[in-house]
Amino acid sequence: MAAETARYRRVLLKVSGEALMGGRDYGIDPGMIDRVAAEVAAVHQTGVQLALVIGGGNIFRGLSGAATGMERSTADYMGMLATVMNALALQNALEKVGVPTRVQSAIVMASICEPYIRRRAMRHMEKGRVVIFAAGTGNPMFTTDTAAALRAAETDCQAVFKATQVDGVYDADPRRVSTAKRFDRLSYMDVLARDLRVMDHTAISVARESGIPIVVFSIHTPGALSEVVAGRGSFTLISEED
Ligand code: UDP
Repeated sequence: MAAETARYRRVLLKVSGEALMGGRDYGIDPGMIDRVAAEVAAVHQTGVQLALVIGGGNIFRGLSGAATGMERSTADYMGMLATVMNALALQNALEKVGVPTRVQSAIVMASICEPYIRRRAMRHMEKGRVVIFAAGTGNPMFTTDTAAALRAAETDCQAVFKATQVDGVYDADPRRVSTAKRFDRLSYMDVLARDLRVMDHTAISVARESGIPIVVFSIHTPGALSEVVAGRGSFTLISEED
């Protein structure tokens, strides 16, 4: 189905920090990060250009820091630093399986990765390198989901693939509510109006303004990323109304 796969020239994959925890309560599960790298490598092999945005919730979340009395912005900067650790771990896992990768951080860290430079990121992708965008947007009060929508818009990605714990968007958490209803398709406005908690409102609004579709799928199904990039398998598509 190579022709089908070629429907996307360049895509952005958003992986939450939580997805890297695997069965753990905190941090990175080496088996899980290798699995994510294998998913990315499989798509990379088909010639689709790939950017990644990685979360940090497996290490530190700004809101949790703020809840313990820390100043919110400081806590958010710590959250952004957590995403850089995840990005380096994912770069390592990708290079182990032969995928050339560059990390670009929104907060300059010259000795460990490149700074975010839009045109350079696009050039890397044209040359077949996977680019991992770290440190979110570089600003407190935002999320890595918003960074994903923003970077996708900036670097001409044709879709955001949002890896989650379940195979799409539901009206309740299907792991807790057995009657939860799954959606095949939603408009950006549906997600906002129904307050469906798949991505925060800012992220959905940025995607909507830029007309970037969001494909929500489960990272726990082996081979799922290749399948959904080819338009197959189980996912929810969030886009403009038909
Ligand atoms: N963060 C931020 N600005 C950004 C992106 C992230 O301040 O543009 C901080 C925020 O504190 C957040 C943490 O980094 O809690 C980790 O990111 P996120 O919660 O989005 O990670 P995920 O839920 O995807 O693991």
